Amino acid sequence: MIFKQLFDKKSSTYTYIISSGKGREALIIDPVIENTEEYLNVLKELNLKLVKVIDTHIHADHISGLSELATRTSCSKIMGERSASEVIDIRVKDNEKIKIESIELITMHTPGHTDCSYSFLMKDRIFTGDTLLINGTGRTDFQNGNPIDQYHSLFDKILKLPEKTLVYPAHDYKGNEVSTIGKEKKNNPRLQVNSVEEYTDLMNNLNLGNPEMMDIAIPANINGKTLNKI
Ligand code: FE
Repeated sequence: MIFKQLFDKKSSTYTYIISSGKGREALIIDPVIENTEEYLNVLKELNLKLVKVIDTHIHADHISGLSELATRTSCSKIMGERSASEVIDIRVKDNEKIKIESIELITMHTPGHTDCSYSFLMKDRIFTGDTLLINGTGRTDFQNGNPIDQYHSLFDKILKLPEKTLVYPAHDYKGNEVSTIGKEKKNNPRLQVNSVEEYTDLMNNLNLGNPEMMDIAIPANINGKTLNKI
């Protein structure tokens, strides 16, 4: 299997390139528009054919590379069914399968950071978007975010996975690349709560400023901005 984790320094976003092998089909999760050439170069070097691109949710802190990659490669654009994006080809529901050749991702609707947030389970690992971060969880104060939904997405879904499941988030701000469900249960300060009320209180008192790119990124990601489209 080919598995590449790429990092966008400006937005601290992780992008994942996955394929069953050289010369085969590939999929990309959470691309950043400015890094499109880098992704295309990796695909070219490995002789991969990009067939699917997935965004875990509508991002507020960067413009997604989803539409640009689709323009350049004619891959399918995939998001959860509640996504506000106007350019999605395949809208997935909870507990569906996204397949490319021998690779299978199981979709998990994990709302809370946004109402359209999805996580994707691939055998021994899960891509958690901004639902579960390493030592953190995604904020819940805009884009129909909701700490109660996020509590249930975390405690009733993601954290029920085997403890050794690898956790690959959409962002990290401190250089962490991967964690496990077991480590997060034990160490993640946001998860050391005893009730949904306690989690809601915690999330409602973070007092965070808005992301710098928010007013540009959200409409661009809804409209499916490409590099040529103003
Ligand atoms: Fe986000």
